[in-house]
Amino acid sequence: MLRGRQLGEADRILTLFTAQRGKVDAVAKGVRRPRSHLGGRVEPFTECDFLMHRGRSLDVIVSAEIVHSGWARLVEPERYAVAAAVAELVDAFCEPDLALLDVYELLAGAIAAIAASTAPRTLLPRFSLRLLDMLGLAPPLTTCVRCGAALPAGSVWLDAQAGGIVDAACRERWQNLPELAERDLANLRSLALPKGGAGGATLLATPPATAAVEELVAHHLGKRPKALTQLGSLGA
Ligand SMILES: [Zn+2]
Repeated sequence: MLRGRQLGEADRILTLFTAQRGKVDAVAKGVRRPRSHLGGRVEPFTECDFLMHRGRSLDVIVSAEIVHSGWARLVEPERYAVAAAVAELVDAFCEPDLALLDVYELLAGAIAAIAASTAPRTLLPRFSLRLLDMLGLAPPLTTCVRCGAALPAGSVWLDAQAGGIVDAACRERWQNLPELAERDLANLRSLALPKGGAGGATLLATPPATAAVEELVAHHLGKRPKALTQLGSLGA
């Protein structure tokens, strides 16, 4: 479940991300009544087996069986904010032609990792890069995004407007682009590796790499995700 909103007196509309159909809006009828059999099962970020029937406009949830709930651990403010960021990105970037199962597994894996983490925000850069990759929006990390030349050793610059990284020749000096040191670029390359790559999901992002990924996400989304602003207000 990505998010929910109230409908009428007792119902909620849930936005779900499903492995089969991608993003689906469905009504949970009577869920806000005290004795609803759905109550407590349809919390944000919970993974469920849903039985639904197709209604005239919205699907209607008949039953929900919890597959995995990290809810008890996800109510902690920082974990909640990071999980909300993950859900917001999947929600915002969701396209009908997504590789649904890959995104579903990425989402479920990220939520489980966040629930188990003592430093959940460090998981966001890798999640974001993997998601961008599945959307075909990943920044090239070995070539300049403007001229296509191999990126040199030493400093390079983030050009979020161009969706990637530029070399000294393509850097427009008046733009004051953020500089990435060699180790930040190496870090981004490791973070972008598919599952099983060096460092895996536990690899930490350097602060410049973290900022670079956030800039790229904001560029592709056309705005800074709300949940990231929320996360920023929680402090470091
Ligand atoms: Zn270039």
